Amino acid sequence: MDSCFRRNDTIVDGCEFCGERVKTEMEVAETIESVRSLVKAARSKGKRVGFVPTMGALHIGHISLIEAAVKECDFVVVSIFVNPTQFGPGEDFEKYPRPLEADLEICKKAGVDVVFAPTPEQMYRAENVTWVNVEKLTETLCGRFRPGHFRGVTTICAKLFNIVSPDVAFFGQKDAQQAVVIKRMVADLNMPLEIVVCPTVRENDGLAVSSRNKYLTKEQKKDATCICKSLQKCREMIEAGTKDSETIIVEMRKILSRAPSVEIEYVSIVDAESLQSLDKIIGKVLAAVAVRIGPARLIDNIVVDTGKQ
Ligand code: AMP
Repeated sequence: MDSCFRRNDTIVDGCEFCGERVKTEMEVAETIESVRSLVKAARSKGKRVGFVPTMGALHIGHISLIEAAVKECDFVVVSIFVNPTQFGPGEDFEKYPRPLEADLEICKKAGVDVVFAPTPEQMYRAENVTWVNVEKLTETLCGRFRPGHFRGVTTICAKLFNIVSPDVAFFGQKDAQQAVVIKRMVADLNMPLEIVVCPTVRENDGLAVSSRNKYLTKEQKKDATCICKSLQKCREMIEAGTKDSETIIVEMRKILSRAPSVEIEYVSIVDAESLQSLDKIIGKVLAAVAVRIGPARLIDNIVVDTGKQ
């Protein structure tokens, strides 16, 4: 890229010679006004704005979303905000990791244009009285065990979408129910953006990457691989033609129960769109697991499309 035009590490918008996209220096916006004005300036240049909402403690799962956004969009905003309203009493809001400097470095390297890192006071008034609630889809799976969690997620995402006004937002399949719920909120409220769901990133042993894996000891982390093993078993059984969900769930539970530190919260097989339980394997199926291991609550899932209705 000899011909690209760079000035003191601050790189101009588009190379005037080769036309290739080159980056400007990453901005860190702490206020709603500042992120809005940065996005407005980008949009006035005709840029397609991509958005990756996160709670920080960034890992390769988050980076995969950022990379997808950088690939598909001309201007990428990442938010880093540990959203208090999606944590229940006794959950890990206080101790949730907040390594902001390391996160900013990761964003910079990944080619992010703006990191929006607001304070809780920026995002919420002392008393929040306006909520976005998606019914039904939030009453199954994690919704049964984390009352109020999805109301917090949909409310913060609606607020962030209003603030950032992206053309497209990127979410991870790792949080399958969240992705379904957000897609439905966007459709039902006619929000003018597209939702892209990216595949779950796993460690070599199959464990889904999560900020909460940091809470695990070496032994517990080894035990945690039984989650993906149970999901793998589910896939094998479906592919071998097993039709009865309960038969599959029993086998999955057996695998999970072999790991001493694992406490099962749920093992469910549901329709991938409606998230309602399925007695028989039919259509596009979501198998989802939630367990507690020591101080961590871990979730994972697979989708199997049987192609039959
Ligand atoms: P969080 O910071 O946990 O709120 O996650 C921010 C986004 O990253 C969500 O859309 C998650 O689904 C996504 N994400 C988290 N872990 C992974 C992973 N292992 N693979 C893909 N996406 C992930």
